[in-house]
Amino acid sequence: MTSPTEPQRTTKATHPDLPPGLVLGPDGKPCKVCNSWQDWAKIKVVKKGASSSAKSDPLAMMAAMAGGAAAVKTKADDKEADRTDCPPDTAELGRATWTFLHTTAAYYPTEPSAEHQSRMRALLSSLPTLYACAPCADDFGEDIKANPPDVSGRDGLSRWLCERHNEVNRKLGKRVWKCDWKTMDARWKDGPADGRCD
Ligand SMILES: Cc1cc2nc3c(=O)[nH]c(=O)nc-3n(C[C@H](O)[C@H](O)[C@H](O)COP(=O)(O)OP(=O)(O)OC[C@H]3O[C@@H](n4cnc5c(N)ncnc54)[C@H](O)[C@@H]3O)c2cc1C
Repeated sequence: MTSPTEPQRTTKATHPDLPPGLVLGPDGKPCKVCNSWQDWAKIKVVKKGASSSAKSDPLAMMAAMAGGAAAVKTKADDKEADRTDCPPDTAELGRATWTFLHTTAAYYPTEPSAEHQSRMRALLSSLPTLYACAPCADDFGEDIKANPPDVSGRDGLSRWLCERHNEVNRKLGKRVWKCDWKTMDARWKDGPADGRCD
């Protein structure tokens, strides 16, 4: 969370023309890939509502901002069908990245060579610098500093990654997964026992 000494990470009083709670990028501006597309869509609605009526009635601007969520719902619903080939939001980038990482772990050797281990360490330690959602990257960097990657083999890596994913799940109030190899293999390698993915 943001303390008085840390850079501000979400729109608040300093961005009175924007909906509150949007996540900011390293440049101090709201960042598309750091927010959900539904939240991003509120920017347009607030600005549109504010510019069309604020000149004649400043209260209309506040009303537009207060009513932003309801207006956005309609707009978001309208847009839902047409999201193919759009730039990713936080959730889409996250799902794609977790899919890549868990799948890579599922096919990682049980007895990796020194080269495999050092490449995997390099891949994982690059994320805090390169991952496009900067606030996500910062938190992930803190987490892996406290919990260095286990690159010793497939099972250790899969468990370590599951635990890192669970850290993010906890932060977002989502379900925490069991990190045993059976659960990981069923989700990321072999599919569930009922055969529905075969
Ligand atoms: C490094 C990283 C940091 C992130 N940080 C943030 C952040 O700070 N804020 C934010 O809003 N979003 C963050 N995200 C995105 C977030 O984790 C989710 O990807 C996003 O919210 C979409 O969630 P989802 O519910 O679709 O499933 P995801 O969490 O993307 O999971 C994809 C699939 O993985 C499986 N799964 C879930 N948990 C586990 C687990 N522990 N082990 C194995 N498999 C699992 C499930 O089948 C799930 O459907 C981050 C993503 C990454 C890769």
